[in-house]
Amino acid sequence: MEKTELNLTRKWRSKNFQEVIGQSLAIRILQNSLYLKQFFPVYLFAGQRGCGKTSTARIFAAAVNCARLAEFQQDPRKVSIPCLTCPSCLAMSKSQHPDFIEIDAASHTGVDNVRNIIDASSFLPLLSSKKIYLIDEAHMLSKAAFNAFLKILEEPPMSVIFILATTDMQKILETVKSRCFQIFFDPVDTQVITDHLEKICSVENIPADTTGLAVIAQEAGGSVRDAINLLEQVRFATKKISKESVLSILGHIDESALFELFEKIVSQDVHELLQFCSSLEKYELSIEYLWAQLTELVYDAILIQYHVSARRFIDLPSDMKQSIEKISIVHLIRLFGILCSQEQNLARTTKKLRFLEMVLLQYMQETVQDFKKKNK
Ligand SMILES: [Zn+2]
Repeated sequence: MEKTELNLTRKWRSKNFQEVIGQSLAIRILQNSLYLKQFFPVYLFAGQRGCGKTSTARIFAAAVNCARLAEFQQDPRKVSIPCLTCPSCLAMSKSQHPDFIEIDAASHTGVDNVRNIIDASSFLPLLSSKKIYLIDEAHMLSKAAFNAFLKILEEPPMSVIFILATTDMQKILETVKSRCFQIFFDPVDTQVITDHLEKICSVENIPADTTGLAVIAQEAGGSVRDAINLLEQVRFATKKISKESVLSILGHIDESALFELFEKIVSQDVHELLQFCSSLEKYELSIEYLWAQLTELVYDAILIQYHVSARRFIDLPSDMKQSIEKISIVHLIRLFGILCSQEQNLARTTKKLRFLEMVLLQYMQETVQDFKKKNK
């Protein structure tokens, strides 16, 4: 019989605290709360998308209602919760737990939904000790909904725990925030994500180079979920995940090509620059990305000139460092300014590579005139 393959994101969703990636502080706080059996009526999980808030909330909810909670409190080193095998944990894993209610506030913004929650929360839990509401994207609730919610937050029923999760802490009312126990989820470290992707690839038999996985991790910007989604995309598009294959799928330029472009700009050789740009045409490059990378590189070059260590290009090749030191800092600042001020125009044009060429030419032209004036 043919089995439906779960996608990687679902398959690798963490089921217990140990599997949550890169959130050790948040996990420690929650596990302590379980150990001491001191639950707050309202938790607020804040952090960027894909960094583990919702999974952690589900795991925490499962642990609170796990049949082995008392054993865990006796000996947390021997017993791990959620146990994943008791009736409550099984119901959780099938998303059929009658006492765990998950609401996506993005699609239920209205005050009526909140009233329904409030009414329903006065009933006792059916299967376990606590009724747990997870309100995802809580910042999307309307103001009226928040205000209705405040009432229950003032006097929450003993048997209820609310977990609000948000990617936008600023939009949560102060009055709500002050009644919550706040837990912050950091963007997950790139190296931690790379290691996790390596583990997935080895278990799933996906041929991959660490350098390719590192590019995926970098691109995911702290989101484990985005990284796994991207891994899934890349693995179907290429036989082996390598730095080159990932860059080409993303439409990104290799660092060495970026450095080459920079050299051409610095050397003031218009002919070479045009030739280099036309050689880029055969790739399906994201010019916006190239533009952003070039801007970063110019910024770092400015820092290097001021002898401040640059953030991203610490491992610049030595000939690259030498050519940076040759350029006048005034020119670098000018180039940075041009790239920033023209960014919006780049977004509007369809001829992006041509536009980049012309902007660089304009910069070169102005710089050459500078030289001429100086040498007169
Ligand atoms: Zn259990």
